[in-house]
Amino acid sequence: MIPTSSGMSQDALRTIFALQQAASRSQQAPAFERRREAIEKLCELVRTNATEIASAISTDFGGRSKSETELLEIVPTLSALRHARRHLRSWMRPERRPVDFAFQPARAWVQYEPLGVIGIVAPWNYPLLLTISPLLDAIAAGNRAMLKPSELTPRFSELLRVMIAERYDCSEIAVITGGVQIARSFASMPFDHLLFTGSAAVGRQVMRAAAENLTPVTLELGGKSPAIVCPDYPVEKAARSIAFGKFLNAGQTCIAPDYALVPYERCEAFAHRVLWEATRAYPDIAGNPDYTSIITEQHRIRLKAALDEARAAGATVLSHPDANADSEGKLVPTVVLGAPVDGGLLREEIFGPILPVVPYRSLDEALAFINTRPRPLALYCFTHDRQMRALVLARATSGGVTLNGTLLHIAQDALPFGGVGASGMGAYHGRDGFRRMSHTRAVHQIGFLNLFEHLGPPWGKLSSTVARFLSRR
Ligand code: NAD
Repeated sequence: MIPTSSGMSQDALRTIFALQQAASRSQQAPAFERRREAIEKLCELVRTNATEIASAISTDFGGRSKSETELLEIVPTLSALRHARRHLRSWMRPERRPVDFAFQPARAWVQYEPLGVIGIVAPWNYPLLLTISPLLDAIAAGNRAMLKPSELTPRFSELLRVMIAERYDCSEIAVITGGVQIARSFASMPFDHLLFTGSAAVGRQVMRAAAENLTPVTLELGGKSPAIVCPDYPVEKAARSIAFGKFLNAGQTCIAPDYALVPYERCEAFAHRVLWEATRAYPDIAGNPDYTSIITEQHRIRLKAALDEARAAGATVLSHPDANADSEGKLVPTVVLGAPVDGGLLREEIFGPILPVVPYRSLDEALAFINTRPRPLALYCFTHDRQMRALVLARATSGGVTLNGTLLHIAQDALPFGGVGASGMGAYHGRDGFRRMSHTRAVHQIGFLNLFEHLGPPWGKLSSTVARFLSRR
């Protein structure tokens, strides 16, 4: 089971899966104390290795801001761990459910039981948060888990493998490293649940592979998350929030505002203000450790091609003035006015530091723009007007929403996080994650008398009288 530089072998994957599955079938669900201990160990793992984690991720990115790793990965991961530690006992409690008069005397309840072995496939953009957060939900619910981090973050993935192997037996938690081939085999294992975070294209393949085993899936995908600036909201304030959400991690955030819908007459002022905010936050791009690089040259080429296409179609491209950023694998913050509606920038998820600004003349028009596209993972709405807010919430569906800001709904441990439609299925985090990774088992306990058994067969007058009474109630 020694990992090679290209990752683990198929044999190691199968052996670990078999170990976990056998253990999950032969051993009782872990008690509260054992689960809390497993969570404690995760807390210690993150806390004591924070510096190494940030440096491995930075190396993988070719430059990822240390503060971003701290604030967007380490802090929310520790917060989720503490939240689970605090609430686990109450989440695990069975819940009494009412029993209808016709079935008395009896008691009914649901109890949350482990599913067994959970598979977790993670992307590269927040490699710590997107492995540990689903892992936390899996172990809080008493499961065993296997993690497959991204091949695009090889240093972090190897560090994670070692940190987990030092603390947990591989029959409990194991990290499987490797590329697409091992990822494919991973998705074809008969897990009891598979949580995949990544692109919609790979999500489809994962769901197909899972269907062969009737493995239920949670798919955390991406998409084009819109930000609507309503006419009453100060453009400067909206620009600050949107620039903040867009340029963190150089736009490589699943819930980054993908594009902004802005009243027609305020588009230009808004676009310049977003760029002003970007320049204030990142005066230089080249040599600036606060500004993150694009993960691979291939992604940079894809983003530049989308910009060239927009430029060729007559769009106005406003870019951060630092022209030296190119040499460092970075892409400068860019705002685009007049991007073609059928072009790459407004068709595909951008996943980079480019913000197209789309003009609208009425809120109806803005909502129609959103609703003719696949359902987004996040929605941002900037308004102080209650009616406008209610209209946007009622008419535009999304996985989650932050009002008058960006990104922060993901950081709320008490809120579920997930997509809808093309942006994913199923949500996790906190109690919702605990339940997602549990089997909600129905239990009905009959009291001293079971009236139903006394009605027949043979069926007679008593049964028809009771049936008539029960159906008329
Ligand atoms: P990706 O789909 O290319 O890869 C994700 C993971 O899937 C990697 O670990 C990879 O090894 C694995 N994989 C690749 N091919 C596979 C296959 N055939 N079967 C099983 N697994 C396979 O995604 P990415 O480029 O790493 O991440 C970017 C995407 O992820 C964006 O679309 C983004 O919006 C999305 N994302 C979503 C969330 C969310 O929480 N909803 C969070 C972060 C990123």
